[in-house]
Amino acid sequence: MLQLEDVTVRFGGHTTALEGVSLRVADGEIVCVLGPSGSGKSTLLRVVAGLQDADAGRVLLAGRDLAGVPAHKRGVGLMFQDHQLFPQRDVAGNVAFGLRMHGSGRAETEGRVAELLRLVGLPDAGHRAVAALSGGEQQRVALARALAPRPRLLMLDEPLGQLDRGLRERLVVELRALFHRLGTTALAVTHDHGEAFALADRVVIMREGRIAQAGGPLEVWQRP
Ligand code: ADP
Ligand code: ADP
Repeated sequence: MLQLEDVTVRFGGHTTALEGVSLRVADGEIVCVLGPSGSGKSTLLRVVAGLQDADAGRVLLAGRDLAGVPAHKRGVGLMFQDHQLFPQRDVAGNVAFGLRMHGSGRAETEGRVAELLRLVGLPDAGHRAVAALSGGEQQRVALARALAPRPRLLMLDEPLGQLDRGLRERLVVELRALFHRLGTTALAVTHDHGEAFALADRVVIMREGRIAQAGGPLEVWQRP
């Protein structure tokens, strides 16, 4: 379980990017964070990922206080909009990257890469060049790479942001089914209401650094 307790982040003297934000994400739960530009969504992800320090409050994952724990030791997987795949590596090389970093041996890595590529629907793409893939395929590779080290928590920042609407609508349904099958705990940031409501078990709406609303998709949707 992820737990934020009264997390505050300030930039300089004036900007309060997050103000006393408290949030829990249960194991296996998918939470989507919505809100206008500048409302603190990216800062929230960055604090949990270890890319930004909090000025006050605590972040706990599976009961462990993450203060001072470096990003790569947090057990958090990241999938960004600009998926940042390594263009000089093939698909399998991209997915394997995190595994080798975590000390997996060659045979273990190969088996896990094959398993992940099947999971994301690209079973035969291991040797393809990343540059030759479509945008949707690249997002699938980024997802496989993020899931490879079996993170306790997967964080997604506008995961389908650069894809056209038809593809997004299909992929979001796939993502939800996949996360539920794997028991993935996920925290996703998006601008897109449709995407949030299709993906999330619970939606959190941010405004000016605070959580303005939170609840199940239908509950939040129906409120004025
Ligand atoms: P969102 O992701 O919802 O667009 P952000 O978390 O990026 O919002 O930003 C929240 C607020 O914090 C905004 O006012 C933004 O300008 C400010 N901010 C974010 N990062 C920095 C930074 N590194 N330095 C100064 N201000 C920042
Ligand atoms: P995005 O829309 O992808 O969140 P932003 O333009 O908000 O991108 O932020 C890009 C980078 O600049 C981030 O690292 C963010 O923390 C930083 N940033 C955002 N707002 C400010 C700001 N007002 N001053 C300085 N850095 C900022």
